[in-house]
Amino acid sequence: MQSPRNIRVHREKRILELVWDTNDVSSLPFQAVRRDCHCAVCVDEFTGRRILDPSSVPEDIDLLDVSLTGNYALKFRWSDTHDSGLFTWDHLRKLAHRLEHEANA
Ligand SMILES: [Zn+2]
Repeated sequence: MQSPRNIRVHREKRILELVWDTNDVSSLPFQAVRRDCHCAVCVDEFTGRRILDPSSVPEDIDLLDVSLTGNYALKFRWSDTHDSGLFTWDHLRKLAHRLEHEANA
């Protein structure tokens, strides 16, 4: 699995930037990352149905802390006090691709 070699948090722009081994860069808005949380509080573990209402995530959500989990995922602490989500590299990569497609659509 591809892992980022650099992780930057631009709090003033509310952007999480991941620089991958291949040198491409993913710029992920905090709000989009928070909305895509797959933890048991945000998504029903059994049905896969989203419990989190995307509109409940404010545009000015802040990312307070980022920590590395194992060597395969990031854990975020958000200003809405949520911190139970785990974002694997694969998840972040897919989210970045999806956002790129949406931006180009
Ligand atoms: Zn969550």
